[in-house]
Amino acid sequence: MSATSVCQICGKTKSPNEGQIAELLRPSLHNFVVKQHPKWDGTGFVCFDDIGDCRQNYVREVLEDELGELTALDQEVVESLRQHEIVASNIEKQFERKLTFGERLSDHIAEFGGSWKFILSFGAVLVVWIITNGVVLVTRAFDPFPFILLNLILSCLAALQAPVIMMSQNRAEARDRLRAENDYKVNLKAELEIRHLHEKIDHLLRKQYNRLFEIQQIQIELLEELSRRR
Ligand SMILES: [Zn+2]
Repeated sequence: MSATSVCQICGKTKSPNEGQIAELLRPSLHNFVVKQHPKWDGTGFVCFDDIGDCRQNYVREVLEDELGELTALDQEVVESLRQHEIVASNIEKQFERKLTFGERLSDHIAEFGGSWKFILSFGAVLVVWIITNGVVLVTRAFDPFPFILLNLILSCLAALQAPVIMMSQNRAEARDRLRAENDYKVNLKAELEIRHLHEKIDHLLRKQYNRLFEIQQIQIELLEELSRRR
């Protein structure tokens, strides 16, 4: 094989490891490439750039047939198929990087607010408050018996706690959504790649069987010829 080969589709000169022979393409993709490039006779060397473009269009067409209108997620998968890149990404890291100081703070507060540590220490504060005002400072209590100031502080705390918890819940939801989207992309891509591999292996097996059969045929003919000569 020469050091360079001419791509039969775009006509550019490429090195042999930048493309492959057309007969190694699986039939469904091969047909599609022929349909996209009517001038091409369907044989010879084809570069990976052209195959990649056709493959992207092919996958897009198949997906549109099966799913209807493509979403942005589907588009990303199709694009990644062409560029041979991995779609799986670490959502946690991506997400952590985007958080602002306020969001991180509310996460921590929500985490502390939903723990036994909080309940126990809060209970201790209440008990100390009540004992201080009800027993120790009976005569000059700063918050005497019905503890109106304590009530006010408690309701303020409750009023603040609710939005903080909601903020942190919203973020958990956003993270779950990102994770689900990522899972969807990875699944879709895996599905497409597996289908692609199936077709490719079937195609190669069929080709190999045909060739074996041909070789066998030739051997039989040779044997017949030999026995005739004897
Ligand atoms: Zn080409």
